[in-house]
Amino acid sequence: MSLATDGIEVLQVPMGDRSYNIHVGEGGIAQAGSILSGILRAPRVIIVTDTNIAKAWLQPLKDSLSKSKITTREIILPPGEQTKSMAQLGQLLDDLLEGGVDRKTTLIALGGGVIGDLTGFAAAVLLRGIDFIQIPTTLLAQVDSSVGGKTAVDTRFGKNLIGAFHQPRAVIADTLTLDTLPMRERRCGYAEVLKYGVINDRNFFDWLQINGQKVLNGDSGARREAVLRSCANKAKIVAADEREAGLRALLNLGHTFGHAIEAQIGFEDKLKHGEAVAIGMVMALELSVRLAMTSETERDTLRAHLIEVGLPTDLKGLAGKNWTSEALLEHMGRDKKTQGGKLTFILARAIGNSFVANDVDPKIVADVLDTFITDAI
Ligand code: ADP
Ligand code: ZN
Repeated sequence: MSLATDGIEVLQVPMGDRSYNIHVGEGGIAQAGSILSGILRAPRVIIVTDTNIAKAWLQPLKDSLSKSKITTREIILPPGEQTKSMAQLGQLLDDLLEGGVDRKTTLIALGGGVIGDLTGFAAAVLLRGIDFIQIPTTLLAQVDSSVGGKTAVDTRFGKNLIGAFHQPRAVIADTLTLDTLPMRERRCGYAEVLKYGVINDRNFFDWLQINGQKVLNGDSGARREAVLRSCANKAKIVAADEREAGLRALLNLGHTFGHAIEAQIGFEDKLKHGEAVAIGMVMALELSVRLAMTSETERDTLRAHLIEVGLPTDLKGLAGKNWTSEALLEHMGRDKKTQGGKLTFILARAIGNSFVANDVDPKIVADVLDTFITDAI
C-alpha cells in the first residue's frame, strides 16, 4: 500500500500480467482523468451507469475525464437487479456496437454490483475481450465485487449463472460516493466488510467494533481504512486461489446460509443480500458452537456488533409458516457451490480464524436452522 496525493491510497492486486491497482479514498472520481490517463489504450471511454448513480456522479466523472482530454459517451440503464439479465446484456452489446467500439475502447462501470457485473461481462465478451475500469459506488461493490474479476448476469434458474472471469484494468473506489448511498445499502456493504474480520483478521474486527459507526456515517478516513483492509484481505485470498479451488471458499462465510434464506424469501426487497449474509454469519457461528469448534462468547460478540450497527441477526419478521429446515437445506443443495452433494460450510474456531469444512453433518445444520425458525415464529 502506498500513500498517493490527496489521501487516495493505492493497493495492488497481484495477478501476474493482469495485476491492477485499486485507488481508494475521497475524491477518486475527481482524479479519474489523471489516474486513467496512463492506463487507457486510447483516450476514449464509454461509461455504463444507472439512473440513480448518474444523477450525482456522472457529470463529475465526465468533467474529470475531459480535463485529461479523454472523450466519453454514456449508456444509462435502469437501476435494480433486473438489469443484470441476458436481455439487458444483449441490448447493451447492441448499443455499444451501434455507437462504435474497437479493441482500444475502454468501458467504465460506474455503479454498484449490478452495473459492475453486467459491464464487466460485456467487456469480457465484446470483440472477445476489451478493457474495463470499475468505479464502484456502493460499499458492497467497493469491498467485494471490485476484487476478483468475477462478472456475470442472472438467469431464471439462478443468480450469476452466466459469466466470465475478467479482471478490470483499474478500480477507483471513491468513498465520497457513499454519501449519496441509502443507509440500508451502506449497512449491507458493511456486513461484507465485517466478514473479512471474521474470516481471518481479528485485528480488523476489533477495529470495526470501535470504528464501525464512523464507516457507516461518513468519516472519510475510517471509510478508506475499511475499504482498503477489506480489499487487501480479499485480494490476498483471491491471488492465492483465483478460480475458486479451495481457499477462495472462505469468502463464502455466511453465504451458504445466506443464499438459502434469500432463495426461500424469493429474492425480494424484504431482505437484501448483505442482510442475509449478516444472519448467515451468525448461523455459521452457531453451527461452530454446536460442533464444539468455538465458544458462545465468540458468537455473541459477533451478534452484538451486528445489532449495534443495525443489521439483522435472526429471522424475526422473515420466516413464515412454510419455512422448514428441509426447505432451506434443499436450497443449499442446489447452490452451485455445493460439490458432490456434500455441504460445504465456513466455520470458525474464533472470530478471525475461519476454515473450510466439507463434511458437515446435515442433521446438525438442520438443528441450527430449526432453532432460528422456531425463534422467529
Ligand atoms: P450492490 O449489488 O453493489 O449492492 P446495486 O448495483 O444493486 O448494488 O445498487 C443498489 C442500489 O443503490 C441501486 O438502486 C443503485 O442505483 C443505487 N446506488 C448505487 N450507488 C449509489 C450511490 N453512490 N448513490 C445513490 N444510489 C446508489
Ligand atoms: Zn456476498
